[in-house]
Amino acid sequence: MSAIVSNRSPISHGLRRQAIIESLLSDVMHGRLRPGQHLVTQELAERYGTSHTPIREALIALEGVGMINLLPNRGATVRRVTTQDIREICQVRRVLECEAVRSACGRIELAQLQALREAFDKLNASGGHSLSTFIQEARDCDSQLHDLIAASCDNQILAGELNRLKLLFRACRDVAWEHDKSRNDYRRLAEEAREHLAIIDALLACDARAASRAMSAHIRSGMNYWSRAVPASADAKAAVSTSKSSKSQSAPAAEGYPSARPRIN
Ligand SMILES: [Zn+2]
Repeated sequence: MSAIVSNRSPISHGLRRQAIIESLLSDVMHGRLRPGQHLVTQELAERYGTSHTPIREALIALEGVGMINLLPNRGATVRRVTTQDIREICQVRRVLECEAVRSACGRIELAQLQALREAFDKLNASGGHSLSTFIQEARDCDSQLHDLIAASCDNQILAGELNRLKLLFRACRDVAWEHDKSRNDYRRLAEEAREHLAIIDALLACDARAASRAMSAHIRSGMNYWSRAVPASADAKAAVSTSKSSKSQSAPAAEGYPSARPRIN
């Protein structure tokens, strides 16, 4: 189980609720909460050291992103997350993020884009860091870029949906990176760096079509890794793995990244 969010910590109600959502989402994605398992409000309130209100709000938010079922008089149960779910999540993400980056093109200050580009270049050159530091920095850079695009798309509904769903997207991303870390496989991190730079370069060139294409390629590419990492039926995993493994195994590691060992699926 994830770390407990103390009721005594000086954090706001909203942050406490968000921390509970993130914690439960991570537990679902990692398989620590099993499909069909009941989530009892009283037990969760004791676990997180909080009142029932933020627990109920967190459960409603998790139902809203399709990770649990809330049934009248039966409470909350964990949904089974399949590779089909991951594909559908990524399809929705691709539609939203491609529209956001297309709309954000020309609306982001060049200095902000240059600063992000430098951050990715720095990350690219820091292959000697400890793996945990490296993944944390990659996570921060990824979140900064996608948050900047969402905040700049000039569409509050679109930005709001991206903000609502980003917990789900990032839980998938983090599980996938943990999966790669456990295999000492840095290939996806290297690919992501190249994909992010392509998005930034298109934004710097004010080329909305290229930015949208680069974002689409980024999300399609990530979907294969997300599908492999999330606990699902062995058959579904094997189907995704088989169709994509030849491409991913031939991908070269980016300069500056630790070289990847052959993937064992
Ligand atoms: Zn990204």
